[in-house]
This record gives sequence, C-alpha cells and structure tokens, in this order.
Amino acid sequence: MICLSKGTTTVNALPSFTPANPPQWVLSFDFDGTLVDHDGDPMVKPEFFYLMEEMRKSHRSIWGLNTGRTLTHALEGILEAKFMWLPDFIIAREREIYIRNEFGRWIGVAEWNKNCEKAHKGLFRRHKRRLQKIQKWVEGNTDAQWGSQVDEPAGIVASSEEEMSLILEHIDAQLPSRRSLSYQRNSIYLRFSHKKYHKGTALAELARLYQLGAEKTFTMGDGHNDTDMLDKSIAQYIACPANAHEEVKTHVLDNGGMVTTASASQGVIEALLEMLHQKEDERAYE
Ligand SMILES: [Mg+2]
Repeated sequence: MICLSKGTTTVNALPSFTPANPPQWVLSFDFDGTLVDHDGDPMVKPEFFYLMEEMRKSHRSIWGLNTGRTLTHALEGILEAKFMWLPDFIIAREREIYIRNEFGRWIGVAEWNKNCEKAHKGLFRRHKRRLQKIQKWVEGNTDAQWGSQVDEPAGIVASSEEEMSLILEHIDAQLPSRRSLSYQRNSIYLRFSHKKYHKGTALAELARLYQLGAEKTFTMGDGHNDTDMLDKSIAQYIACPANAHEEVKTHVLDNGGMVTTASASQGVIEALLEMLHQKEDERAYE
C-alpha cells in the first residue's frame, strides 16, 4: 500500500496502483524545451498525445513531466501549452513526486516528499553560513540576482549563460564533493539543493513505486538539470532533442543515449518510435 497525502489529508491508495493492472513502462519528459516548444504552434505536437494513448494501450505505459517548475507552475504550463490531456505524474522542482488520482487531483507521494522537505530544511540550516558567503561573492562580483524565499531559500538568476558558468566555477570550488549541498542549474537559473534529491532519484523512486526498474524507464531532457536522469542506471532509454544544450547532447551520447534530429516534442516522438523499433528488433532475435 502506498501512503499518499494532499495537504494535511492522508489517503492510503490509488486505484491505478492495484496489482491487477500495474503499469509496465514509465515515460518521463522534461517540460520546457523538451516536450514544450514555447515558440511553436502548436507548442506540443498532437501526435505526441496520440502516441501516449497508443502506448498506454499497447505497452501499459504511464507518462509524466519531470521538471524544475513547481507543481502549480507546471499545471499553468500545461494549460498554456494546451495539452490534450493530463499526464499521469509530475515530478516538480526536480525532486517532488505527484501522481494524478482518479479524480484528477495531484497527490504528493507522502514519504518521499516529506523526507525530501526534511532533508532540504536540514541542509539549508547546516549550510547557512556557506551560502551567505556564496551570496556575498555573487552579489559583489556579478550582475546576477540572488533569490531567497521561504520554500526556495537559495537560488540565483544570472544575466547570461556565460555569467552562470563563471558563478559555477566559484560555487564548485566552494562545495567539497562529499558534502550534501549541491545545486540544479538550468540555463541562467540555479537552485541549491540536496545531492540526494534530483530528477534522476525522483524518477527512480517513481518507477520503484510501480515495482519497475531502469529497464522499463524512458526519459528525455534538454538542459543541465536533466543530466541526473539522463543516466542508464535510472533509465535504460535516454534521449535529448536536437535543440538540447550542447553539453547535454555530449552527455547523452557519452552515456549511450540518442540525440534526435528533430526538436522538442517532434524529437520526443522520434526517440519513442526509435525505442519501440529497438524493442521489436530485440524480440525478433529472441
Ligand atoms: Mg528543459
């Protein structure tokens, strides 16, 4: 039984989790730049949604977003991008897991999200002085903006990608690798976070909840904050679209994944069809 919670209410199951009909595949997509092309019309190709429906029937797959956006911001994005229907799950802020229930409500995976929040509270308490030092350096040496809010204690918005690279050089020198303090970078944005929680570990946990492993997981992303999930120990099928950051393309190729010839959702369709062909070929040789 999976314990789920929404706000302060705790419920104990999702009908779609019942063993009689478990999903067989998890398909995870970064939102901005991967599934959604904000300059495109439409922003997401309708064929993507048809493919999701087809794979739901043929492969018993579930699909969802794996994004740096908050849950609310992701749902706003879904409306803006005119999704034809809702995904089955959303991994928000690169770490929190939400699953859609039968009533269309987003239910947080209680244990994971609670542990994640607790780990981050402790992290920011322990590293307060270290972060203050980094903030001082950033504000004194760059044009970047330092952000601090209740639910996001430490983040940076740089004025350019080049500036963010410069800031990262400084931060990397300040953060010994054995420490739990880490960060997620996406273009000019950076969010400090716990090393244990990222798109990759959250996706692995989601698959684990359905008793699935990396061999039944597909994931695709275009930015630096996607590299943690673009890892064969997390997903056997990894890909990035043609419009991905060059460093992400290199990472994907180095790790045995696919860089599509098409961009955004057309690239997503391309990668999924390639995976299906691969599976067919494997079966033909069995
Ligand atoms: Mg992206």
